Amino acid sequence: MAKKKSNDLRCMMCGTSEAQGATIVPVFDGLTLCTDCISYIDQARDNTLAEARAQGGDVKVKKEDIPTPHEIKKYLDRYVIGQDEAKKYLSVAVYNHYKRIDQEAARDKDAPKAGLRKAIDADPDDVDIEKSNIIMVGPTGTGKTLLAKSIARLLDVPFAIVDATVLTEAGYVGEDIESLLTRLLQNCDYNVERAERGIVFIDEIDKIARKSDNPSITRDVSGEGVQQGLLKLLEGSTVLVPPNGGRKHPEQKMIAVDTKNILFICGGAFDGIERKIASRLNTHVVGYGRDESKKKEQRDNLMRYILPQDLKSFGLIPEIIGRLPVLTALNPLDRDALLRILTEPKNALVRQYRKLFEIDGVKLEFTRDALEAIVDKAIEYKLGARGLRSIVETVMVDAMFDIPSMQVKEFTVDADYVNRQLSRANFDKMKLADS
Ligand code: ADP
Repeated sequence: MAKKKSNDLRCMMCGTSEAQGATIVPVFDGLTLCTDCISYIDQARDNTLAEARAQGGDVKVKKEDIPTPHEIKKYLDRYVIGQDEAKKYLSVAVYNHYKRIDQEAARDKDAPKAGLRKAIDADPDDVDIEKSNIIMVGPTGTGKTLLAKSIARLLDVPFAIVDATVLTEAGYVGEDIESLLTRLLQNCDYNVERAERGIVFIDEIDKIARKSDNPSITRDVSGEGVQQGLLKLLEGSTVLVPPNGGRKHPEQKMIAVDTKNILFICGGAFDGIERKIASRLNTHVVGYGRDESKKKEQRDNLMRYILPQDLKSFGLIPEIIGRLPVLTALNPLDRDALLRILTEPKNALVRQYRKLFEIDGVKLEFTRDALEAIVDKAIEYKLGARGLRSIVETVMVDAMFDIPSMQVKEFTVDADYVNRQLSRANFDKMKLADS
């Protein structure tokens, strides 16, 4: 077969080549398409988006269907241990979010005709309920994302978890701020109307803090610019979202999304913020190298007093803080909380493993001292709740490998077994290698 001329580019969709007069464009990753196929794809996508839009909204919310804050909190209790304060704030914020949507929908229905007299004819006693975006502050692995995810499961609105660290100012490497909404659109099949009433969880919001409290002459690109961009989303405006995320580029068709009714929940560890709180309260934080437990106790106590101005001292601009009026702190998880996490939540690890064994007809038990040994390992290696999974997995892997081929009806995991399995798997070394 004749060797293909290396510069004879072909469209990978329809097969026409430059030699046949087609204009071939490299798209990405070595993919080449002719301009006809590109416009065909664009048209097809526009049609899909238009259809999704036309299907419009099963976005109406009936007042009687809105779960009460008590019901929301009770639901969260099934999945998240402790963090009662944060749960209460979230429950109220979500409840109010629904009421707000309900009110907006009612107003749209009875709205006076748009035009010059719209404002004059509007009901003078009508009250605007402003949206209450939320910010959750707390150490990593204490349940911020889990709370947000559990809320998402409960609600019938589109929901997306995004990471603030992927952002940088337009013109710099990184994603555009608007791309935070791409995931939301994708999660509701580009149904814009539904997305406009959704919830977005922005993780690691502390990573876009300004590096110094002093709004100095040298602009801090990594922090303040991104915050200004984010402000636009938080306060509610119509933004153009790239349907596939990433950076905007001229050929990409944008989708207009109004963020007025989108509820934003932000989360961040804000490491070291207790020092800001302490200096505001005029107390001292125990210095480095001093009594660890005292330091921890002090941090926990101080976090209870967190105020918006501490976020400002940490490097969030006042405008952003103003748009995140609900501020709540999550507690670090102590030994007792970790023990409860292993067994109590609906999807607790112990329950999951019991279920796995039950499917094979095996009754799996963990003794109390086994659970304590697992938790102690997580504490010893500072792995927190997130580490429980890898510890239990390491402990259970041999049993899961062997038991299906054995005639066993019961299997009990005790502390000896836990410690034996962990030392056999060189867990200590694995963790040291990780850190
Ligand atoms: P972060 O606060 O960093 O967002 P995550 O919510 O992602 O932490 O928690 C990591 C994992 O640890 C969760 O998936 C969950 O398994 C467990 N976990 C953390 N906090 C809790 C909690 N309060 N209750 C139950 N499980 C938790």
